[in-house]
Amino acid sequence: MKTINIKNSSEKITIGKIVCVGRNYAEHAKELGNEVPEKPVVFLKPASSVIYSGGEIIYPSYSNDMHHEVELVLLIGKNIKDADEKTAEEAIAGYGVGLDMTLRDVQNELKKKGHPWTIAKGFDTSAVLSDFILKRDYELSLNEEISLSVNGGIRQKEKLNMMLFPPVKIIQYISSLFTLEEGDLIFTGTPKGVGKVERGDSLFAKIENIAELNCKVS
Ligand code: ZN
Repeated sequence: MKTINIKNSSEKITIGKIVCVGRNYAEHAKELGNEVPEKPVVFLKPASSVIYSGGEIIYPSYSNDMHHEVELVLLIGKNIKDADEKTAEEAIAGYGVGLDMTLRDVQNELKKKGHPWTIAKGFDTSAVLSDFILKRDYELSLNEEISLSVNGGIRQKEKLNMMLFPPVKIIQYISSLFTLEEGDLIFTGTPKGVGKVERGDSLFAKIENIAELNCKVS
């Protein structure tokens, strides 16, 4: 079982399901030629896809176009279903930064066929996680900057307030589809600037005041 590491705490939380939101920044939807959605686009990753800061992302043999997507990740702290705004807010236990590694060539083929994105999004090492900061230790303003650099060069940099659907709205919507449980994670979508990584690249992701992570591609 994969667990979440909490900053300044020895507590380990077992990861439940990982729910991801796509196209949550208008400029990113446009850069991939997608419409800006009326509702969040939702998909899942298995918990087995998780690695941690300091780990290695393994390029699957069936792709030649793996992309980085840096995202704010929410940790859910209690079980909710059909949450109202207040319940959704109260269900957030903490925040981290994550990478939603994506096989863009595979995803584009799946999209054409109308197939699910699972094998483009859920492969081993496709979810990279930082340590998490608890909400009781930090109040998210959405003025924080999220960024990703590859080999020291900035590729993605945006304020979290550019999200189309903010965290509480995302949780409300997802909880109308699935029961959210303690230990579930929500990847909240990536800003513009996604691009290909190569074997040997070093990635560094950060959200101001919240967390950072680094990892290598091999
Ligand atoms: Zn993503």
